[in-house]
Amino acid sequence: MTTTLTGAQTQIVERYTARTPRARELFDRARRSLPAGSTRSLNSWQPHPIYVTRAAGTRVTDVDGNVYLDFLNNYSSLVLGHAHPAVIAALSERLGDGTAFSYSNPLEVDLAERICERIPSVELVRFTNSGLEATLYAIKIARAASGRDRIAKFEGGYHGTHDAVLVSVRPPLDQAGPRDAPHSVADAAGVSRSAVEEALVLPFNNLEATTRLLHANRDTLAAVILEPVLGSGGVIPPAPGFLAGLREVTRELGLLLIFDEVISLRLAPGGAQEYYGVIPDLTAMGKLVGGGMPVGAYGGRADLMSLLEPSGIGEALDFRGGGPKIYQGGTFTGNPLTMAAGLATLDQLTPSEYHRLNALGERLQSEVTRVCQELDAPVQVSAVGSLFNIHFTREPMVDARAPRSADGEMAHLFFLEMLNRGFILAPRGMGALSTPTEEADVDAFVEAMRGALHLLYGNQQEEG
Ligand code: PMP
Repeated sequence: MTTTLTGAQTQIVERYTARTPRARELFDRARRSLPAGSTRSLNSWQPHPIYVTRAAGTRVTDVDGNVYLDFLNNYSSLVLGHAHPAVIAALSERLGDGTAFSYSNPLEVDLAERICERIPSVELVRFTNSGLEATLYAIKIARAASGRDRIAKFEGGYHGTHDAVLVSVRPPLDQAGPRDAPHSVADAAGVSRSAVEEALVLPFNNLEATTRLLHANRDTLAAVILEPVLGSGGVIPPAPGFLAGLREVTRELGLLLIFDEVISLRLAPGGAQEYYGVIPDLTAMGKLVGGGMPVGAYGGRADLMSLLEPSGIGEALDFRGGGPKIYQGGTFTGNPLTMAAGLATLDQLTPSEYHRLNALGERLQSEVTRVCQELDAPVQVSAVGSLFNIHFTREPMVDARAPRSADGEMAHLFFLEMLNRGFILAPRGMGALSTPTEEADVDAFVEAMRGALHLLYGNQQEEG
């Protein structure tokens, strides 16, 4: 991994290896049938990933029998934690009645109504199986409605792995261009060159530069898509006035505004659009609306969503009705299990639960900040509500470039050491709390972090 590890740092990797021998075996075996030993690119790291066997509440058990407190919750989707009794009851109740049908089911209607009630800008909604598909369809709607093809996205914004948006999420800094006029760079091989050329990349939290770029490209753009809070890009909140300013300029230029709330929906019953008071035309959703099952959803203004309506439906019975302008497929979309888990989850998420969860996030942010300052380590936390990200840099977290200055090696050793101490985070330091998390869990996290930072920055007095 590196040639310059200190003794304490080498110990971190050795302890990790010693406590995960079965994971090592499984990883070696897995690589013979699964590229990188996993079906998710994120889940393959040095020296080897862990494999999970079961989880309940905040506790996750791996194949070696180690138990962890989960501070990531499947990248924020498990807002109620694992195997919440209400979700398990809803799933168990449905399971004997079939898993997916050729035709629609009533739970689809129930969950659609529930989402439209909670998010007023979502007048109509459709389900998908993933957040990736949700942004893909939202973009199709924007293209169909505007008659234009190009989409503007922000550097650092992650919207899934389809070509239109797998651009400049984490561009190599030597190719990323000026901070206020970013280049469009493919994030992985296999993205078509035309998709890269078509995307307009904007600088997050720089309203002036964003306005300039949008004005210059107004005639070819269909929409602007953004995460109101950069999520996997480092949990970077929008600067005051940034979202409102973006709303104003998109309205003025006749561009549709798409909020990707796949992660940010957990900030309030009506998502980040309620939290920040800025209303988009279309919203992509995912994660929590499926209660831990595979899901995505997209919705918004009725005039836009009605592009999915075939002509002839709802009129006098007319069997010659034409097809919809936009066609949506998906063998498993709206399946009753996902719908039941989503409904059970939303039922639990009362306004006071959001409040409690966000307060827990604030506690974590202030305690972690205190520890970083006390140790004078080049480490900080950015956070919004129950979402947070630990960054190994002192640079202020103001835009998408700031987290890129982090010390990746330290961040990775920290990630391994937090696993050694029984805490699950994303390899890049992101976390998301769940409702069963208690203040004592947050305090234990903060103490583990203090110990890990002592080790990393060479203070050997720490007890370990
Ligand atoms: N949008 C955002 C903001 C996301 O964070 C993610 C996934 N982390 C997606 C879209 C894609 O969702 P999925 O993984 O369900 O395809």
